[in-house]
Amino acid sequence: MDALDAKYPFFASAREAVAEAAVSLPELVAADAPAVERARERVERALLEGTVAAESGDFPGESASDTQAELLSYPIARILVSLLDSQPAIEKYAAAEAATAMERVRRDLETDDELRSVSSATVGLDDLLAEFDLADAVRPDATAPAGVRGGTGGGTTSGGAGGGATGGGPTGSGAGRDPDGYRIDVGPYLRLTSPEWGDSWRLVNRALADGAVRVSREELLAALEAAVEARVAEGLPFELGADEEIAAALESRVADLRRLLSERTYAEPPDVVAPALFPPCMTNLIEKAERDAALSAAESFALMAFLVGIGMTPDEVVAFCADTSLDAEGIRYQTEYLTDDRGTQYPPPTCETLANYGICHNEDDHMQVAADPLSYYEKQVAAADDVTDWRDGREADGSEED
Ligand code: SF4
Repeated sequence: MDALDAKYPFFASAREAVAEAAVSLPELVAADAPAVERARERVERALLEGTVAAESGDFPGESASDTQAELLSYPIARILVSLLDSQPAIEKYAAAEAATAMERVRRDLETDDELRSVSSATVGLDDLLAEFDLADAVRPDATAPAGVRGGTGGGTTSGGAGGGATGGGPTGSGAGRDPDGYRIDVGPYLRLTSPEWGDSWRLVNRALADGAVRVSREELLAALEAAVEARVAEGLPFELGADEEIAAALESRVADLRRLLSERTYAEPPDVVAPALFPPCMTNLIEKAERDAALSAAESFALMAFLVGIGMTPDEVVAFCADTSLDAEGIRYQTEYLTDDRGTQYPPPTCETLANYGICHNEDDHMQVAADPLSYYEKQVAAADDVTDWRDGREADGSEED
């Protein structure tokens, strides 16, 4: 089992490696092997934090057994998700696997060409395109100037791949051998993207020539994130059938995950919109959008998850962001995605994750105060003497009907 398979466990080669390995999943589960605990962590972090990365540190692990546990945790995580038997949980799990994978892909792509060619644990864009049978459908766009955006529309929330929790990252860096602009055949473009991601994704707003759509590098990565998400979700939930013993052995872990989910479901958000008390990371993102600058997928996801987390409805978020680069349709898509029909929150990424994306600058070392922006805001609201709700001002001037 090699590190690349463990890093990208949804690759066909990883599936083959698991099939060829002389390991039995029922035996691993019965023995409570490290892969089982890692699988539980994988699902828990997917559901609550939008990432499947290990809390203990960066991948890959230091030993061969870490690599094996990491790879085998993926099929066991799929069993856990199947046993949870909840469509929102499946969607969140698949989105988190995709977001984490693309975070790793972005780091791989930032790796210097020379290092990439000698490291077997990094992928290039060509590898990824081949993995999803897109090698012939995507071509570098020789006519695209550096940093060009693929669309002809304006700003976007860029909610690609369901707004992956930790997706995004550096935009338009043009690092390594990969160019900034691509052309993707219209069929795969329509299959992998959604007009619900925002106006700029609509075909009518795209440069289309010879049956291919121009996309920026970041937009291509968003489309690939959607491809990963679809592959992870494929076949979930599955019936365990003859593997009922596995279900029995995993019962307590599944019960823990259900309890965590229900605690999250019924947790009361602060339910007051006091922008003056927002954490600096969110204020910075709002100010950036107010300057009409486009937010990356990671930035827009973090902001939308925060606003939904403090109890704002999609309509309220649209009104709140009216004078920004974020378009109403993209906001609606992301905010509705972030709240399932039982009102379950998809919590915003942690401070640590936001720091990795350069979204958090840990002003005044306040990462010591809270682990995520929502907890920070809760503390700010609790400590404030006088809190004015932005929504009260809207009601007073009659603009809530906007
Ligand atoms: S420490 Fe957390 S709450 Fe504060 S700016 Fe960073 S991400 Fe935001």
